[in-house]
Amino acid sequence: DLPFAELIWNDQVKNHFWLPLDTRITMDVFYERLHPDDREATRRAVEDSNQNKRHYDIVYRTTNPADPSQIKFIRAVGWTDFDEKGEPKRFDGLTLDITQDRLAQSELQTAKTLAESASVAKSEFLANMSHEIRTPLGAILGFIDLLKANEATNEEKALYFDTIARNGSALRQIVDDILDLAKVESGKLEIEEIPVAFYSTLQETVQLLQERAKQKGIYLLLNIDDSVPSQLRTDPTRVRQVVLNLVGNAVKFTVEGGVKVRVRAENPDRGRVKIIIVVEDTGIGIDPEKRKRLFSPFAQADNSTTRRYGGTGLGLALSQRLAKALGGTIEIQEQSSPGATFAFAFEAGESVEAPKLETRKKGPPASVASFADLRILIVDDSPDNRALVSRVLAKTGASIEQASNGREAVEQALSNDFSLILMDVQMPEMDGYDATRALRSRHYMKPIVALSAHAMKEDAARSLAAGCDAHLTKPISQTDLFDAIAKLTKRLT
Ligand code: ADP
Repeated sequence: DLPFAELIWNDQVKNHFWLPLDTRITMDVFYERLHPDDREATRRAVEDSNQNKRHYDIVYRTTNPADPSQIKFIRAVGWTDFDEKGEPKRFDGLTLDITQDRLAQSELQTAKTLAESASVAKSEFLANMSHEIRTPLGAILGFIDLLKANEATNEEKALYFDTIARNGSALRQIVDDILDLAKVESGKLEIEEIPVAFYSTLQETVQLLQERAKQKGIYLLLNIDDSVPSQLRTDPTRVRQVVLNLVGNAVKFTVEGGVKVRVRAENPDRGRVKIIIVVEDTGIGIDPEKRKRLFSPFAQADNSTTRRYGGTGLGLALSQRLAKALGGTIEIQEQSSPGATFAFAFEAGESVEAPKLETRKKGPPASVASFADLRILIVDDSPDNRALVSRVLAKTGASIEQASNGREAVEQALSNDFSLILMDVQMPEMDGYDATRALRSRHYMKPIVALSAHAMKEDAARSLAAGCDAHLTKPISQTDLFDAIAKLTKRLT
């Protein structure tokens, strides 16, 4: 140690050491105020500088004795002057408070780590997604090859078609889920609150899975507590989506016994109800260690799950985000018996208003024969899509013309008398929005139906704003297409 009885510090240095300005400074005081973890290193640095007769330049932390969690980062430079005999004569030093720099540095470091892990997660997500999409796609393309070979019996063909259709639906489900997930993540998911007949919503949703449970020989029971209001205000689509996923999983992972869905309500605030839906099964259960990551996209409890039970691992990730958007949560609950229990809680508004009944009766699609006098223009840059839609419509007897971009569509529409235009949105040269706007600005009055591969809600709004009468999302269902045409050409039965 330095043999100085007292050190002379200016006010700023005292400040760096959390010392009152009238303190007498000794080496002891100096070491006392150092962060315990930095004392030894500092002592060594000072000794080293004395022995080797050179300055030191170090960073240490000082702590506030009143609250040791408060620290300052101090950069200290010091040196000793020696007399002719080599005895220490005088010690000089400077201190600089670099706490702010250090904090900024560590914030930067945290931000960098976060960004890096987000980027890794994104790459993993993309890799998984491409794998999940390739799997059904592989089945579709493979069975189409088999069909092309033209060696299959009729029975085999029927099976192949079924397989293709099933994988097509699976693919569509994945894409829908991914889109929903993207919407939730970017905060674009719109949650509505409308009056809902809650009992029937629950019953209908559970009913959808009753058949599957029956086939597996397991029970599926719904129990709604008296505390639950029969009407409330919420987003029925999103609630249904979450319940369908939780109950669907429960049925999927249960071989024996069955699934109980219990619904109850609590009243936290006036005008709001907390709905708690507990889905309890007697299935294979979930390893406690693996519970956390089930809510990350594409995560499954273990990799053999996919092989045995199928599934994409998107359901819970999406459900949890939807639950959050509904002001709620999904939790896995402890249970003593084998199986798994999920609790989905969300907040809903109280409602006295009866839900509006669907005014337009869905009925069977408009009679196909009634399209015989229609002339329809199909606008799409993809020849395959044009061929598909015209084939579907040819069955109805409608006469069909085609255009492959917006410019052609405008020309043809103005020089012909079409009953209706089916307008793809994204096209080269002139897109569907511009074409529709161009037609409307020339007082073109015939109905225009936008067909788009974008399923975002804003896209529908954009189509309508451009002057379209309706917006259908690809892949387009025949029923929806016929319905839209029938409605807009007043062929509705
Ligand atoms: P998917 O079911 O499509 O794989 P989910 O996100 O819905 O995707 O579920 C992720 C995983 O969580 C499942 O693969 C399964 O391992 C596990 N899991 C979900 N629900 C249950 C349940 N009721 N019982 C056992 N395991 C479950």
